[in-house]
Amino acid sequence: MSGKPIAPGGTVGILGGGQLGRMLASAAAEMGLHTHIYCPDENAPAAEVAAQYTRAEYEDEAALTRFAESVDAVTYEFENVPAETARILSAHGIVRPGPLALATAQDRIVEKNFMQANGILTAPFADITDEASLRNAVENIGTPSVLKTRRFGYDGKGQAKIMAPEDAIAAWDEIGRAPAILEGFVSFEREISVIVARGENGETAAYDPVENIHKNHILDRTLAPAALPEAVAGEACAIAARIAAELDYVGVMGVEMFLLPEAGAEQRLLVNEIAPRVHNSGHWTMDACAVGQFEQHMRAVCGWPLGHPQRHSDAVMTNLIGDEADGWKKLAAEPGTAIHLYGKAEARPGRKMGHTTKLYPLGKRPPVTSS
Ligand code: AMP
Repeated sequence: MSGKPIAPGGTVGILGGGQLGRMLASAAAEMGLHTHIYCPDENAPAAEVAAQYTRAEYEDEAALTRFAESVDAVTYEFENVPAETARILSAHGIVRPGPLALATAQDRIVEKNFMQANGILTAPFADITDEASLRNAVENIGTPSVLKTRRFGYDGKGQAKIMAPEDAIAAWDEIGRAPAILEGFVSFEREISVIVARGENGETAAYDPVENIHKNHILDRTLAPAALPEAVAGEACAIAARIAAELDYVGVMGVEMFLLPEAGAEQRLLVNEIAPRVHNSGHWTMDACAVGQFEQHMRAVCGWPLGHPQRHSDAVMTNLIGDEADGWKKLAAEPGTAIHLYGKAEARPGRKMGHTTKLYPLGKRPPVTSS
């Protein structure tokens, strides 16, 4: 497609049918594009706002082929797209972001090695393959530390904290003795993230870094912007742009970072992980920027010029988890607050049902310290 953008009227395929796919499909519709959702789930929130929907397994080669042939490009809303699925789709056309980003983000060891190779700081880490490597790693890295499965972890799942060396084997049992990474526990001051976009021509655009507050290992609130010295904010954006460039990335990516309490700008930021997709900590951009992350992603995937990432407002995004969305009527009455509900029928505990974004004039976001 190089040089030839997908024009309005074209169709973008989206793998995955959750809320991110839904918001991507809505943004695409606003741009005059059609979307085709592919996912194995019944009642996919994305399907009801898309022109086409294929319900099939990610291993179904015939269905994937038909899907790929019905669209001008394919993107995805989750990082665990099986490599074989991506390969089949790539054989039929454009998949954005590309295979390097997927392979890097799917495996925590590959991801950390990538950061190290590019001079980007991370928590100290070691590859865990057996009891001996675990004992060795705990001795070298020390405690407290965190043992995480290399693959398929999310919202704190597949993780166990190790407080003392003698707890190491029990922690590995807890995560099913899966291939793992041991990370030194970082005493961070705050968690921040950068939502960066990279276009087909290599231009990048990063939204201002934001601060993320978690509850029960799930993102609870995003504060936009994060209160950071200018040099640190600039460094965070530069790191995100460098990662995107090194991955030859096309699309929007979330880069999660730990902010250390004291040090120079270049030593204060450790990258925790990347998400090769639109990201929950970027939802505020829908309401506080002229071009939000979902439109931005579609612009990049379709080879359009990127939108300017500047904010017109400060914002606090709050996730509505489980039954919190039942309070929609009260939330909708909040002044200056946009409400987004994902159309999920069943409010299971821990399930992301929607979010709100409260806007403030620039520079007027209240410091939020607790819930
Ligand atoms: P992750 O799945 O890697 O994003 O981890 C989920 C959460 O666990 C992060 O947002 C942090 O709050 C915490 N966490 C993960 N890794 C570390 C670490 N090495 N040190 C301290 N906290 C961590």
